[in-house]
Amino acid sequence: MARALGELATLTEIDEGSPQAFRVRAYQNAQRAIETLTRDVAALSMSELSQLKGIGKSTAAKIREYVDTGTMAKLESLRAKHPAGKQELLKVPGLGPKTIGLLDELLGIRDLDGLKAAIADGRIAALPGLGEKTAENLQRAIDQLGLSSKQTRVPLYVAVPLAERLVARLRRLDDVEQAEYAGSVRRFRETIGDLDILVATTDPTAVTEAFLALDEVAETIGSGTTKTSILTNDGVQVDLRVVPPESFGAALLYFTGSKAHNIRLRQRALKRGLTLNEYALARLPADAEVAGGADDTDAPPPMDTADLEVVAQRTEADIYAALDLPWIAAEQREDAGEIEASEAATAATLVTREDIRGDLHDHTDWSGDGRASLEDMVAGAVERGHAYLGLTDHAENLRISGISREGMLRQRRIVRDLEQQRGDIRLFHGAELNIGVDGSLDYDAEFLAGYDWLVASVHSHFTRPVAEQTARVVAAIRHPSVTAIGHLHGRMIGKRPGIELDLEQVLDAAAETGTAIEINCNLRRLDASAEVIREGAGRGVTFVISTDAHSVPELDNLRHGVANARRGGLDRDQVANTWPLARFESWVGQVRRA
Ligand SMILES: [Zn+2]
Ligand SMILES: [Zn+2]
Repeated sequence: MARALGELATLTEIDEGSPQAFRVRAYQNAQRAIETLTRDVAALSMSELSQLKGIGKSTAAKIREYVDTGTMAKLESLRAKHPAGKQELLKVPGLGPKTIGLLDELLGIRDLDGLKAAIADGRIAALPGLGEKTAENLQRAIDQLGLSSKQTRVPLYVAVPLAERLVARLRRLDDVEQAEYAGSVRRFRETIGDLDILVATTDPTAVTEAFLALDEVAETIGSGTTKTSILTNDGVQVDLRVVPPESFGAALLYFTGSKAHNIRLRQRALKRGLTLNEYALARLPADAEVAGGADDTDAPPPMDTADLEVVAQRTEADIYAALDLPWIAAEQREDAGEIEASEAATAATLVTREDIRGDLHDHTDWSGDGRASLEDMVAGAVERGHAYLGLTDHAENLRISGISREGMLRQRRIVRDLEQQRGDIRLFHGAELNIGVDGSLDYDAEFLAGYDWLVASVHSHFTRPVAEQTARVVAAIRHPSVTAIGHLHGRMIGKRPGIELDLEQVLDAAAETGTAIEINCNLRRLDASAEVIREGAGRGVTFVISTDAHSVPELDNLRHGVANARRGGLDRDQVANTWPLARFESWVGQVRRA
């Protein structure tokens, strides 16, 4: 629902030529209201909807229409008028809805490819009111953001929600036994090519038809009995593969990849007189001639497995077991040593969502961009099974939303009272400090010593030389009251690159003082990145996986940080918030003494 309202806002912005248009703001407000809603939107009546803050009568009607019919007439008509490519144009900095309208009208430009071509052949520069300078700026913006057309890779912040949504919808269908997303999203690569979704069913036709009828589907590229390819409204290619239930595991393994990992598995199979493809692991006849022998790298399986004796196919674990391996986590499958480590039983015990016992970076409406009350955030954490929670509203140096000393002390009393009243969760009263350009922090040392937990983050000065950036972050790590460094690089994927750091120095300082490095669960951040996590894991750094939630639903984002930690190969025991409260508290005490 929130996504549909967001799209409605974007399309209205293009249609009316202004981001300030009344209706644009109305849809955006409604989107925010839905995003932070903790009740089921489908269960709300018209009047209940219009009583929600940010939702007017006419938007409430559209929401009901969407719940009842699966779409909105207004959205459909705008989609028909403004194809997906135009929405992409809006992401180019310096290109507003008015200009986009003009480009369509005068030059017939309706997507990024069209814009790039027009910059290249000088048509933008020749346009009155735009000119050479604008053409140059647009080109630079496109280059910097790595924006390009359908050939480009899709970031996880687009791919993961889409994958989760599609799989959830497919699972609801009658004839679907199993549905999972595969490919590089499942491996949690930072960007993906297209999205692979697998469905196990005995009725491929019914499932394919239902898939094509989903609201996300904008265009069918091709559709057959086992594979259907579509484009979504925001231009992502999705390949749906329909497989018989008995070979679901083999298909999931095959389509998850990576290619390099699968090649290693096929070689292993051949050495055991077996052959592996997307249907099964099967026994080769004794007299089979295997083209290229066991070292053949990327050849397709040497024969049709239909007539062979199946050894394993239903689950991935069955297939790995038949190859004398434990199941290997999807996030690890890159042929980067994971097979050797599994064989030698030296592989890390990877963290799972169920291992997480607390969340240590959370905002409330006490600081500017938080959207839920302190009481609701705490209730949300308890609902999610947390034993402890770090409340870390913004500190005073953040101009837009920081809290003063007096405010912090008032909040601390409320937190203590709430903890006592509830008795079901340990609350760490904290703050998210701002690491100044010189490594200084908000408030003063004495005031900082009064907190239970402190996250320090870079929120400004992103383009200083690497030595300066390293020095400011190391200074924060060495501060006695700081317990964790938030979103280490401060990057926003697709918007802003992170600060440059001498990672070795930063991670060694963290290992020395015990200060945790945060694995921020926001998909636009993925910060620390999997590479930084891998490097830190090897250096004995302690990590925390934190949501940086600004609303109650965002408390669910832990799964993203968990996936990134798994991709980084981090051992569960190096994640402090997997520890029971007593161990966690004694560790916090040690960090603050170090
Ligand atoms: Zn922050
Ligand atoms: Zn934050």
